[in-house]
Amino acid sequence: MASIKDYILDVPDFPKKGVVFKDITPLLINHDVFQETIILLSKDFQNKGITKVVGIDSRGFLLAAPCALLLGAGLVPVRKKGKLPREVFRQAYQCEYHNNEIDVHKDAFTPSDKVLIVDDVLATGGTARAAYELVKCAGAEVIGFSFLLELGFLNGRAQLPNGPLISAVVNYQ
Ligand code: AMP
Repeated sequence: MASIKDYILDVPDFPKKGVVFKDITPLLINHDVFQETIILLSKDFQNKGITKVVGIDSRGFLLAAPCALLLGAGLVPVRKKGKLPREVFRQAYQCEYHNNEIDVHKDAFTPSDKVLIVDDVLATGGTARAAYELVKCAGAEVIGFSFLLELGFLNGRAQLPNGPLISAVVNYQ
């Protein structure tokens, strides 16, 4: 039987030489696998009182939105610098293949919010760490993280606080 892993394609040397890009579009176009993935990313958080799901720009949005609906929570986009139209908190980060800054609207959270952070890939952990710092800066509590794919050999987990972390697929090579 095919597994979630079979729907993630390796694209060598994209977006730059030496990076193996993980293309999740084959998974997204398959309803059953997409649904199975969303259930997997959400289920451990179902009884944790999650009120907001953060999706990280840009493929994180595709996974965070259905997770938010399933969890009965709101969706907060964390976007690349300059894309959000109102006042933001901003955090610099370094990911596997570039440096950038990410923003979140200053009024995206209330102090009682319990937050799940969702992205497609956990590589070095720089991006997810920056999202974590933003949520804290905005005054809410991060309950956990969900990733479609974890590149275990880059040890991104080490950048993140202890606590629930779900990866639908862990790849150590
Ligand atoms: P990092 O900050 O190194 O953990 O990188 C994670 C972020 O960069 C996520 O938002 C991913 O979408 C993207 N990313 C990093 N490495 C890859 C990869 N090999 N394939 C696809 N996306 C990646």
